[in-house]
Amino acid sequence: MYNKKGFSLVEIMITVTVVLMLAAIALPTMVTHINRARGRACLMNLKEIDNAKSLYALDNNLAPGAPCSMNDLVPLYMQRDPICTAGGVYAPENVDAASGPTCSAGGHGSLQNGLAVPPRWTALR
Ligand SMILES: [Zn+2]
Repeated sequence: MYNKKGFSLVEIMITVTVVLMLAAIALPTMVTHINRARGRACLMNLKEIDNAKSLYALDNNLAPGAPCSMNDLVPLYMQRDPICTAGGVYAPENVDAASGPTCSAGGHGSLQNGLAVPPRWTALR
């Protein structure tokens, strides 16, 4: 006698196919948003470094173009070394540099004249 409990093979295959199709649609979008969030976190770190660099220059009465390193900023002007989500290394650049601090990992946006330029705007240029 035929037992009608459970699912047939065709029902299971259709369900798995639908789930895989939904995952194929959602995964690229998720990866894009994760990368965008990481880029913005890095951009906020760059902004924090830029602010700390300004305070350092004001406190020490430094002329534009004076050298600045992360050792000058941490721990007096920043609580800790900022950590890039992509493993990049931050370089504060010189005091009053128009390009602002940089991250060695690419595609994380930048600071131009103290204003944050998100990665997607940078990519369009
Ligand atoms: Zn970065």
